[in-house]
Amino acid sequence: MDLQEWINKMKKTLQWPSLSSKFLLGITATLLLTEMAYLSGIAVVCGAPEHKDFLFCDSDRLIGVEGDYVIPEKVKESKEELSEAPPERETTAGEAKEENEALKDDAEKGTLILVNKTHPLEKNYQPEDLTAILYFAVDRSEECRFMRKEAAGAFHEMVEAARRDELSIVMTTAYRSYSFQQMLWESYVASEGEEAAARFSAKPGQSEHQTGLAVDVSAASVDYRLTDEFGKTEEGKWLAANAYRYGFILRYPKGAEDVTGYLYEPWHFRYVGKTAAALIKENDLTLEEFLIEIE
Ligand SMILES: [Zn+2]
Repeated sequence: MDLQEWINKMKKTLQWPSLSSKFLLGITATLLLTEMAYLSGIAVVCGAPEHKDFLFCDSDRLIGVEGDYVIPEKVKESKEELSEAPPERETTAGEAKEENEALKDDAEKGTLILVNKTHPLEKNYQPEDLTAILYFAVDRSEECRFMRKEAAGAFHEMVEAARRDELSIVMTTAYRSYSFQQMLWESYVASEGEEAAARFSAKPGQSEHQTGLAVDVSAASVDYRLTDEFGKTEEGKWLAANAYRYGFILRYPKGAEDVTGYLYEPWHFRYVGKTAAALIKENDLTLEEFLIEIE
C-alpha cells in the first residue's frame, strides 16, 4: 500500500472528509492516527503533535519510532558538512560551456521563467507536471500542495537534508492557480487596502506561485507563520545558506524591493535549477538581475 492508498483508506475508515480536519480534533486523534500509521507500516508522521506538524512520507522512508516521532530513513544518514556559501571557484572554459548548456536546458524547460509585476502569466496558465509535495503543514489549503515535478523532487531532497541537520521545514503553500490568487488578493485588498496589499501580495497572474516553481516554507519555531522572524531561525538561516544546493533561491532578499517589487520574504523560495541557483547565490543577485546578465 502506498501513501495515497493509505490516506484514502484512513479517510474511508474514519469517515472524515479531509485528513487535515481530523488533526484539528486534537492530540488524541493525532496520536491515534500516528499509531495506526505505524501499525499499518505505511506512512510516516513526523513532528510535534501539539503543533499539528504532521508530515507524511512514503513507506520506503519509514525506519522507526523515536518517542512520538517516526523518523524518515534519510534522517538517519550521517550529517553532511555544509558550508555557508559556495566555494570560490575558477571556471574553466569546459565548465563554462557546461554551465551554459545547463542554463539553456533549464530555460527550455521553463525553469527560469520570470514572473513579477511586469511579467504576468496568462490566466489559464497551469503547469502540466504538477506533483504532490510530501512535506507540508496540514492546516493550509490542500489545493496548494503541488509543485512542478523537478521542483518537487528538489524540494523533498532539500527538506530531507535539513532533517539530517535536525531541522524540520515544511511547505505551507506552493502552486496557486490564478483563481486561488485572485481570491487571496481580493481578501488582502479588502483588509489592508490595495497599496499596502501590493507590497506583499501579488495580483492574480503576477504570482510566481502560479508557475509551480515557488514554495513558501515555515517551521514550528515561528509557529508556521510567514514572518520576517523566520529569517532569524535556524531553519531560515539553513535555507538561506543551503537552498542553492538543491536549485532554490531566496527570491525576495532584503533590500531588493526596488528590483523584485516585493518586501523581504525569508520564507519564499523559487526553484531555478542548480546551475542558476549557484550563480545567483555566488554573485548575490536577484532573479531579475541574473536574467539580464545571461541574456
Ligand atoms: Zn510565496
